[in-house]
Parts: sequence; C-alpha cells; structure tokens
Amino acid sequence: MYMGYNDGSALMRTSNFREKSDDGATEKRKSRTILHCDANSFFASCETAIHPEYASVPMAVCGSVEERHGIVLARNELAKKYGVTTAEPVWQAKNKCPQLVTVRPTYGLYSEMSEKMNKIFYDYTDCVEPFGIDESWLDVSGSFKLFGNGKSIADSIRERIKNELNITVSVGVSFNKVFAKLGSDMKKPNATTVIPRERFVPIVWPLPVSDLLFVGSSTTKALNRIGVYSIGDLACCDESVIRKNLGKNGILLREFARGNDYSEVTVSGYEPTPKSVSNGMTFRENLKTRDDISFAITYLSMSVAERLRRHKLCCNNVAVTVRLPDLTAFSHSVSLAHPTCLCKEISKVALSLVYAKKAMWEEIYSVTVHAEKLTPEGDFGYQQKLFPEAWEKKYEKSHSLEAAVDSIRERFGKSAVKIASAIDNRLV
Ligand SMILES: [Mg+2]
Repeated sequence: MYMGYNDGSALMRTSNFREKSDDGATEKRKSRTILHCDANSFFASCETAIHPEYASVPMAVCGSVEERHGIVLARNELAKKYGVTTAEPVWQAKNKCPQLVTVRPTYGLYSEMSEKMNKIFYDYTDCVEPFGIDESWLDVSGSFKLFGNGKSIADSIRERIKNELNITVSVGVSFNKVFAKLGSDMKKPNATTVIPRERFVPIVWPLPVSDLLFVGSSTTKALNRIGVYSIGDLACCDESVIRKNLGKNGILLREFARGNDYSEVTVSGYEPTPKSVSNGMTFRENLKTRDDISFAITYLSMSVAERLRRHKLCCNNVAVTVRLPDLTAFSHSVSLAHPTCLCKEISKVALSLVYAKKAMWEEIYSVTVHAEKLTPEGDFGYQQKLFPEAWEKKYEKSHSLEAAVDSIRERFGKSAVKIASAIDNRLV
C-alpha cells in the first residue's frame, strides 16, 4: 500500500529514478538483486496482531466511521472475499458485507510495526529504502554468501516477519527496483515472486501497463489513447509517439518497461516521507489573549515548518485543531494561495483560522497546527524565474532566513535560536 501520489510525475522528480547516466556504475548495476517487500493488508494485519479475535471475522480498518464519510483504509482477507475494497466508502462496504467489523486506526501502532519490519530487513542488508509505511526496497546483492540467493533471502524474511510480528508480506525479487515492486504485487498474501533478467519478457510484458510503478490513472489514460495497454506495448512503442504524447517521463517509463531501471536503493533510515506534519501542545495555562494564542501558534508552526523543510516538502493546506477547557474540540482548515514551508506564513494562516471561529471559544486548552496536502518543495520552481513576482521574492528571502535558522539549530541545538517571546514565557 502506498497512499501518497497516485501519479508518478511528482515522485519521479524527487526520487532517484532518472534516465541512466554514463558514470560507469551502470554496468555494475545490471547484476543487482533487489527485493521489494510489501506487507499485506498492513493496517488490518497490525490490528489483528494485537486483537487475535479479528482473525476469524471480516474486518476493515476505516477512517471516521461515525461521520458517515469514512473510507476503508485496509481490510483483511475475509472481508476481501465479500468484495470489500480499499478506499471505498464504509457504507458501501457494509452493503456488501453487513457483518463487517469496522475498526478505527490505532495511531502509533503502524509506525511501530513498520519500524520492527525494517529492523528485520536490516539483518540481511544495510541497503534498505522504505517506500511508504509498509513497503521497502532492499539491495541484497552483497548478501548472498551469508544468506543464499534472492529467493531464499525473500523466503527467510517472509517467515521471520510472520513468526515475529504475525503479519504477512509479499516479496518481489528482481534485477531492478521497478520490477521488484511489480513482483511484490503479483502474488498475495505471503508469497515470493521472482522476475529474473533472462525471463522478464514473458512474465512482465503481458501485464496491464497500469501495473507499472509510476503509471497512475492519468498516465494510463494517456497511454491507452495511443494504443498502449500492456507493459509490452509500452516497451515496443515508437519513441516519437511517446515523446509527443507523454514527454520525457514517457520515455523514462518505456525504459522501465524494457527493464532499464538503474536507480539505486537509497538508504534513508527509518523515516518515511510524511503525509502531513502536525505539532500540538497543551500549554501550562489556557490561552486567552491574542498574544498568548499568537505565541502558541508561532511556537508550534516553527517545528512544523522546520520538519517540512527537512523533508523538502511544502504544504498546500493549513489546519488547526482547537481543544476547549471542557475538552470539546473543533478543526478548521484552508487551502493556501501558494505552497509554503515557512513558519511565518503557516502561523499567520493558522492564527486567522483560530480567530475565524472566535464565536466558538473564550479560552483555549490546547491547539494543534497541521500542514497538509504536501508536495515536493521544488514543485513551483520560482527560483528559476527571470521575473519573479513580488511575493516570490519575499518568499525567497524568508526561506533563506528560516533555512539559516534550521542549520544553526541543527549545529548548536534546538535552544540556540528561539523566538524572543519563548524566553521565560509562562506558557512553556
Ligand atoms: Mg501493502
């Protein structure tokens, strides 16, 4: 499951999926063995691991059931037999399967399990690249002597994860990342699929082109329009036709279909790219004055913005959740005129959101600032513009200022630079 981008273009820009370079390493990368491990029905499996009673009933993990617009985030194999699918509305799933047990997501559980899963991967190689919460690529080219070939490593990983964490994974084994990912989708649950270089054509080419990594729904439509339906069609498609209709990314996808993906498994630690960044806090006293609230929001926004910049992301949406002294809460959000990773801008919007709901509160018990709808930082690319607009120049300036503060805080510790009002503030 990868719940981020449904189309590849944004991701391709930010990841290391690039057309091959002639740096001499290409030849070496042809003989790699790469695994892609993908947990089956991850959220549902994690819930079942701590509530074994769910194993015998059709069950789905759903977002906000009581608000009636909840959707199915994951379902177990029994629910799947009733035709319950991921991302469908809960009411629709219940029509298909009236006895469906619905469970709210347990926050913290999935990242904890994800971390445990990645720790097992690290026993086989230190070259692990997590992709979303429940998937990782592993380059095991150097691990054969210790653990056997790709397939035996895959089988041993599956067995350990089943025994130690009580969840199942599907593993694809291939000579590049794109086909390894494809392989992990082919047999589920709890299976290993090998796509060797010598036999990839009969295995991969008959599959629908939408099975290929980065081919989302809009790319599929564009490919279908030019008569490309299978991965083989894409591999054999005329270069000029692809270039004309899909541009450079289309050519890259055609290379993937031909088995020419030379991207490396990038070691990035355990931290997956966040879907949203939030920071909330209950302050020592209830917030009453505009100064209190402005301070609280700036204080929270600082770390939200810093985390966005660390991941090279911007948000397109800012939201606040406000909890009142009687512990009732409300949330309010707004889409931004332009994406941002600046504390200055996020806090300004967040403050206006709190005051837009002034009728609802006298005092505030706690507040959370959320940065949502994240996109890669370079997406709006005004740095390259010859004639930037006034706000873009300003943004650029503030960005260098805030980034400079990040690097000072990184070198000398978080307390090296604080907002002036945080010094001896009674609230923190
Ligand atoms: Mg999965």
